[in-house]
Amino acid sequence: MKKDDFRCVECNEEAPELHRDYRNGILKITICESCHKPVDKYIEYDPVIILIDAILCKAQAFRHILFNTNLNIQWKLCVFCLLCEAYLRWSRLHGSEQSNDPADFIRYTKEWEFYSMFALAALELLAFCGGAMGFLRLAVGKTPELRLLLRALLLSCYGKVLLIPAVIWEHDYSPLCLGLIKLFVLTSNLQAIRVILNCSRLLSMVAVFVGLLSEVCVAQASEKTLANVQDMWMLH
Ligand SMILES: [Zn+2]
Repeated sequence: MKKDDFRCVECNEEAPELHRDYRNGILKITICESCHKPVDKYIEYDPVIILIDAILCKAQAFRHILFNTNLNIQWKLCVFCLLCEAYLRWSRLHGSEQSNDPADFIRYTKEWEFYSMFALAALELLAFCGGAMGFLRLAVGKTPELRLLLRALLLSCYGKVLLIPAVIWEHDYSPLCLGLIKLFVLTSNLQAIRVILNCSRLLSMVAVFVGLLSEVCVAQASEKTLANVQDMWMLH
């Protein structure tokens, strides 16, 4: 990391370092010049405690993860969550069917449906990120942290891993449970935007809402297109 890339987790002020090494095994946590508190108290904390604070949507924990660590698992996390989502949608499509038909044609059709569910979920995520980032670009003006913002949005979707139980116990989930997961993910997205841009809660709330709106529009449009394609396929 470059110098001045770190941020104070309490007041968001830039900091040259998180700790100073005095050799002989003496390390001292840097104190923020602006708020006179430790720049990043989390460097001493256990990862579990950091995770709990992130789940509680504490801005300090978000600042630690997004500014003061090199956590670069956003793309892997993103693909993993999309796979879970695609499987969930796909199993919902075939939930009522108990077919043991070994015909290859049917199996390939179902596989194709899984890939299309994955593409659909990816498209919706793209629409969400694009909508939210587009709005912020218009509202805040030129946002230099576009790459940081995308990383923050993708990382803050970590709540989607809660879909794993739904995937494991296939049909033991309710729409309420899925709704709560969605709400949690959106709250994390909101906090991530707030931390990256250091903006008001209202602005990040509107950005998340715009993202959600564009996601819903894309979902509706792609569902209609998919239904039309399937109709055409049946006609032939
Ligand atoms: Zn500070």
